[in-house]
Amino acid sequence: MARPPKIRRVEFLPETTVFKPAGVPVRDLQEQVLAVEELEALRLKDLEGLEQEECAKRMHISRPTFQRILTSAREKVARALVEGNMIRVEGGHYRVAMRQFQCEACRGHFEVPYGAGRGRDINCPHCGGRAHRAGRGHRHGRQ
Ligand SMILES: [Zn+2]
Repeated sequence: MARPPKIRRVEFLPETTVFKPAGVPVRDLQEQVLAVEELEALRLKDLEGLEQEECAKRMHISRPTFQRILTSAREKVARALVEGNMIRVEGGHYRVAMRQFQCEACRGHFEVPYGAGRGRDINCPHCGGRAHRAGRGHRHGRQ
């Protein structure tokens, strides 16, 4: 029986969510829909080069679940490249991990999702002052 899937933790939301083969009208294209957590699995395993155990921990899921998500993601991307499909990154069952910041002016603490303000200064929601990362964004608990 299908159970409602667990919520997977992701540290990345893509800015580009649609990839389209050049020179083919959209109406003639098939589409592979990649869930946000499937892209995160590819990112952690194939870009960051982490072991599956570590990937699973980062996403707060079991290793078999991670393996299943990764396999599905690789198959969709491979199929898109081989068959010339569009890829759309959309939906899934996930939440964006939060990071802790502290304001340099008022010393207040606040949380911002991963990726927010990428490459820009983060400003305090209370006083507008400049803020920096406060310690580690999350604790690694043993499962
Ligand atoms: Zn402040």
